[in-house]
Amino acid sequence: MDETRESLEFDVLFVGGGPANLAGAIHLMNMAQKAGKEIEVCLIEKAESIGSHSLSGAILDPVALQELIPDYLDKGCPIEQPNCSDEFYYLTSTRKFRIPYTPGYMHNSGCHIISLSKFCVWLGEMAEELGVMVFPGFAGTEVLYEAGGDRVIGIRTGDKGIDKDGNKRPVFEPGVDLMAKVTVFGEGPQGSLLREIGKKLGIFEDKMPQVFETAIKEVIEIPESSPFNTSATTVVHSFGYPLGFDTKGGGFLYKMKNNRVSLGFVVGLEYEDPLFEPYQAFLSFKKHPLIADIIKGGKVLQQGAKTLPAGGYYTMPRLALDGAVIVGDSASMLNIQRLKGVHTAMKSGMLAAEAILTALDGENYTAETLGAYEQNVDRSWIKKELYAARNFDQALSQKGVGKFITIGAQYLSGGRGFVDPMEIKKDRLSLRKLENTNLPQTMSPETQDLDGKLYLDKLTGLYLSGTTHEENQPCHLIIPDQNLCVTECFEKYRCPCTRFCPAQVYELEEDPEGSRRLKLNPSNCLHCKTCEIKDPYENIIWTCPEGGGGPKYSIL
Ligand code: SF4
Repeated sequence: MDETRESLEFDVLFVGGGPANLAGAIHLMNMAQKAGKEIEVCLIEKAESIGSHSLSGAILDPVALQELIPDYLDKGCPIEQPNCSDEFYYLTSTRKFRIPYTPGYMHNSGCHIISLSKFCVWLGEMAEELGVMVFPGFAGTEVLYEAGGDRVIGIRTGDKGIDKDGNKRPVFEPGVDLMAKVTVFGEGPQGSLLREIGKKLGIFEDKMPQVFETAIKEVIEIPESSPFNTSATTVVHSFGYPLGFDTKGGGFLYKMKNNRVSLGFVVGLEYEDPLFEPYQAFLSFKKHPLIADIIKGGKVLQQGAKTLPAGGYYTMPRLALDGAVIVGDSASMLNIQRLKGVHTAMKSGMLAAEAILTALDGENYTAETLGAYEQNVDRSWIKKELYAARNFDQALSQKGVGKFITIGAQYLSGGRGFVDPMEIKKDRLSLRKLENTNLPQTMSPETQDLDGKLYLDKLTGLYLSGTTHEENQPCHLIIPDQNLCVTECFEKYRCPCTRFCPAQVYELEEDPEGSRRLKLNPSNCLHCKTCEIKDPYENIIWTCPEGGGGPKYSIL
């Protein structure tokens, strides 16, 4: 067993294989090659392969892609539908009302429907062709700083081959120190490395709290004879049922190639009812006649879940540090008003790449030099888009008709509305205690009628996500106070983790004498991060399991 920790050095290290980092790496290599400059660039991804942890709706505004790869169609970019034709509905439990007018930002003409996992595979191949060293299966578990200082000098990947009890197995491989002049953090929402950077360097200080939504998504094969295959509609969005007006969220259904549809439901994690279960809301949405009629006779091919950052402009962290920059969803750059973030993520990676090249030219990697990235974002359409939507998520959080009045006022005033900035509350603080709640229970936690083919329970859906982990490894979900879970959290909220987790990782066990225990199934984890965000006591810390574990999305 060789226990020597290797150390590798690069000019630039991208941590995470999502669209922000892939676009950044491609743009950097393109610019360096044009300038005749040789640079060593590495990109690591915790999934088994690029794209395996990528999940989104997804409607792609190609504005950044056109800039990055102008001939993307000729280069075989995987597009499910080249054009979008929108329908927008308000749903009651049995009826649908088509909204006759939708604001401009909800129109998707000129956009493409894609599978984000396929798109990332394609971008990954482009990056490799340009000379980026792409290493999937490596999870960054620790940020490395210069001795005694705050300058980021790289990351350490996790050890492999540690057993449940922390002992080295015969297959033990120590993690690798990946050192770089500049490290780009594009870990996606609620990144575990960024959380630690936030604690050490205060990058979230003076910002509004990060807030999130959880999305559950499936790709469904519908019968060839389904009228939806030949209808002009490619995009359906809905709000209302099963959430009502006061809980943020809604559903989507997008047409894909080969008789497939992409179906998903998104729930704002500031929901209040502790008995609410996002997965059950997803099933109720699927069973609504609007959706049930389209997917009738179909079967689920793949399922997955992920959180998305909803807070936008006022929640963006500091973007440039000594030796590092932060891009994409990690930097909360998703435009929740347009329900899109792939284009802003890609552009942020590209703008970061431009600042990095300048830093490499001047051999100066300070926050001040890399701060050119922050200025680039400020001058770009990212800022324009996000600034116009700066209070949108807060408006959606309003109750009753006030929500629509506030949204209307913002629409007419370029995002300002009646109050600017509107306050944002942390998602974990929104749950009402059971003894005080007068809320109608939004959704019954009982299992709905399921057929195992089109309507699935959580474990069947999990099977279709392809999720696997090395079983004999330390639990990657850290619960500092297990007793709190079965006492105070049970009394006040009935252990909401057993409901908000879409993968049945948390189970409450009670013996006949009434003693309770929280049982964890960490191997089920979809890496969605909902638990770390929504736990009312901040008593769940999500850490990266052994590299290569997790879902194996290929068409989501
Ligand atoms: Fe998501 Fe947490 Fe459940 Fe994993 S354990 S699937 S991160 S909610």
